[in-house]
Amino acid sequence: MALTFMKVRSTANHESPSAFTAGSRYLGRFAPSPTGPLHAGSLVAALASWLDARAHCGQWLVRMEDVDTPRTVAGADQLILQQLAACGLLADAPPVWQSQRGALYQAALKQLIARGLAYPCTCSRKDIEHALAAQGHTRERHAELVYPGTCRHTDPAHQIKKPHAWRLRTDPPQTPGALAQSATTTGAVQEASIAWVDRRLGPQHQNVAHAVGDFVLQRADACTSYQLAVVVDDAAQGVTHVVRGQDLADNTARQIWLQHCLGLPTPHYLHTPLVLGPDGAKLSKQNGAQALDLTDPLRALNAAAAVLGWPAQSTTVAEALATWTAMVAEVGASPVAPRLP
Ligand SMILES: [Zn+2]
Repeated sequence: MALTFMKVRSTANHESPSAFTAGSRYLGRFAPSPTGPLHAGSLVAALASWLDARAHCGQWLVRMEDVDTPRTVAGADQLILQQLAACGLLADAPPVWQSQRGALYQAALKQLIARGLAYPCTCSRKDIEHALAAQGHTRERHAELVYPGTCRHTDPAHQIKKPHAWRLRTDPPQTPGALAQSATTTGAVQEASIAWVDRRLGPQHQNVAHAVGDFVLQRADACTSYQLAVVVDDAAQGVTHVVRGQDLADNTARQIWLQHCLGLPTPHYLHTPLVLGPDGAKLSKQNGAQALDLTDPLRALNAAAAVLGWPAQSTTVAEALATWTAMVAEVGASPVAPRLP
């Protein structure tokens, strides 16, 4: 089977603020993982995405990213919804739970397998380390190993007895027929080299094949990967604008590549500043982030707004949100204030 891999250049994100007219459709979302209650860091992303949607006269959804079920904490989803409501961040439609959307992810995986873009992988972490050592390097990226493509030639039709993951190809097929084909095709770049424009961070680029390698779509324990679930859900829900924490920016190239492989549109992306903990790392439950104090939601909102560069308000929650929405709209609809000189 001949596959065509192309250099993907996302053109959807070259949006000037004025290009977004009142008639344009805007659909944003906040997608927390219910592994605990919201804290000061996660409220920044929630407030930014809500303000961006309101300033664009758009709609805003909440999606519970509980696809990684072993890490999900019972009751955290309801607590998050209560916290959002207390802060006046109300969604325009009932929330959805990824754990109830498995059929959508399976359909997408089947489509990728049928097109020869996904393959089964039985490698353990040790197998991957050995394969990389045999190639003379230990390319490590964060704590993740760059997958060397060991199982890329496994025929998906072949019955595999062992539990196995499914991975997405980020490189051209190495079969002789396909190589012959690519050798005669000039001009096509045969790998997942992704360029996009983040609305806050500016032009971004990542060669997914080099930086990550063929990445996991479904784990060996049958859990859908974060990447596949997010891409399928954003498209299924019609999300046009993703506003989320900067810690997730590194996933964007993989998600755009996956959108391309599935024939799905690419939303606009904006990654918000992070709140750092006392150790200088991103604020999380692990470094002492406290759950938001529901008795004083305005205080929590003021702290989140300060991270985004907006002034504190001393009125009601509703009035504070309306004031910030007007400010966001005034600066050309960015939920992050322009930097002061
Ligand atoms: Zn493998």
